[in-house]
Amino acid sequence: MIQGIGASAGIAIGRSFVLPNWEWELPEQKIDVADFAREFERVYEGIRTSKSEIEQIKDELRDVVGSEETHIFDAHIAILDDPVFMNEIQGIIQRQYKAAEVAVKEAIDHFVTMFDLLDDEYMKERALDIKDVGNRLLKHLLGAPEITLPSDTQPFILIAKELSPSQLAHINPQHVLGIVTLAGSTTSHSAIMARALGVPLVVGVETKLAEPIQTGQTIIIDGTDGSVFIDPVQEIILTYTKLHSHQAEAKKQLHGIAGHRPVTPDGKRLELAANISSFKELEIALSSGAHGVGLFRTEFLYMDRNRFPKEEEQFDVYRSVAERLGGEPLVIRTLDVGGDKQLDYFELPEEDNPFLGYRAIRISLDRKDLFKTQLRAILRASHYGKVKLMYPLISSVDEVRAANAVLNEAKLELEEAGIPYDKGMKIGIMIEVPAAVMIADLLAEEVDFFSIGTNDLVQFTLAVDRMNEEISHLYEPYHPALIRMLKMTVEAAKRAGITVGVCGELAGDLRALPIWLSLDVDELSMSSHSILQVKQQLLSTSQEESSEVFQQLHSCRTSTEILELLTSFVNRVDKKTANG
Ligand code: PEP
Ligand code: MG
Repeated sequence: MIQGIGASAGIAIGRSFVLPNWEWELPEQKIDVADFAREFERVYEGIRTSKSEIEQIKDELRDVVGSEETHIFDAHIAILDDPVFMNEIQGIIQRQYKAAEVAVKEAIDHFVTMFDLLDDEYMKERALDIKDVGNRLLKHLLGAPEITLPSDTQPFILIAKELSPSQLAHINPQHVLGIVTLAGSTTSHSAIMARALGVPLVVGVETKLAEPIQTGQTIIIDGTDGSVFIDPVQEIILTYTKLHSHQAEAKKQLHGIAGHRPVTPDGKRLELAANISSFKELEIALSSGAHGVGLFRTEFLYMDRNRFPKEEEQFDVYRSVAERLGGEPLVIRTLDVGGDKQLDYFELPEEDNPFLGYRAIRISLDRKDLFKTQLRAILRASHYGKVKLMYPLISSVDEVRAANAVLNEAKLELEEAGIPYDKGMKIGIMIEVPAAVMIADLLAEEVDFFSIGTNDLVQFTLAVDRMNEEISHLYEPYHPALIRMLKMTVEAAKRAGITVGVCGELAGDLRALPIWLSLDVDELSMSSHSILQVKQQLLSTSQEESSEVFQQLHSCRTSTEILELLTSFVNRVDKKTANG
């Protein structure tokens, strides 16, 4: 048995499929003048192979989507035929004595940057074409295999070095029983998505593997405790098969409370909403009895594509979600890229500290064109449901005001065009930066609601990168500093008379429930898969007892003490419930 870190609960049993490594290693060695001709020929050969591969894709696609859609590939062939492209590559080989693959990579980067800088949508799309076709050429030069997931085989357990959120967005849960990544952390966005999709995930097994996993091996993973079995004996397979069916049965039973009101025995109502990142996840949320959506992570709409989504495309999605919710609230968070969330077509700067860098609301306020497009789409959708708008990563009053100024421009434009929107749409912010906690009283005067983003708040408060495995033991959501931060935020909201919710991963942690009940928060928004468990706990946890426990937390000096207290409280509640 190999001990990884459980990042998305559940058991999966099946055959492995190992995703080839997509990180290309380029040769560092310089070449000699005598090698020039050979390197030129390698580039020509790579171009010939790429062209015939593109022709083949075109033929296959033509039958499926019609010839209109295959024109993009003509553009790719035209780039490969373009003498300017070839001249650039040859120039790098000759002037800098670099190998063919390095020259190709540098030529791609050069043209992509050049086109990307132009303030012209068409040219920006050309940059994407160059990148796409350039990568194909590079793949042939390096002899790297095509990276695709099989869809015609039995469902499998995916093994990968790591998975980006956009790769995960691609995954069909019907084909992927579970995932093991060599690297990764439980609070990455990939892990959050795996939980949302209900796909068991174990991360961080790299140092534990004596030899690499091969495609076709029998694998069992337990996403709760992080165990991974490779080609286990029959006895283990039987044990886990039983456990798997037990879990499925328990899940079915839990669904019995989906329609119950989320109220404690002493009458405190706590709304339980869902975090989603796509329309696809909405059905799971609704079947779990979610009270609307407390966090729609819109950045996933921007991923897995080759350009920014247009206003109309965004509007369609927001409107569909709002309508499907039938009057239940939908909190749409504006674009939160940067950190571990990247867009292939939007080159973010190389940064030493991307989580502290150019991301989220900072990008929106810098790129008002993109921001306004999104705001217009959200405003338009507000006409079709109970939409609320939320800004991420707010750290000052100025940012809220600047964002609202763009929002007002968008509103004016819609009014002038006679396009309807909800004039009473509520505006809120994420509280996920310590500065926002410290000025929560000032921020509360500017907005209608707060939503506490504990994932980022923990990393910024404790100065512990949520993606860094080396220090994952220091990522302590139950640190006394956090408890104080939560208290300050909720109290500031209450004093100002605005509503306050929690949408970080802590919202779905049963041990945190007494904290929320004692502080009297209004809403918890979480991965759909946690909703029923939290509701079951809520139905038997009184607010009064929660307040008593919370009082005791103040005398705790360490995370361990706090966790012990909360865990024993949860166990007491469970025991009482079991005894009827
Ligand atoms: C958070 O930071 O807690 C949060 C909900 O936002 P995200 O996980 O998308 O950064
Ligand atoms: Mg966040």
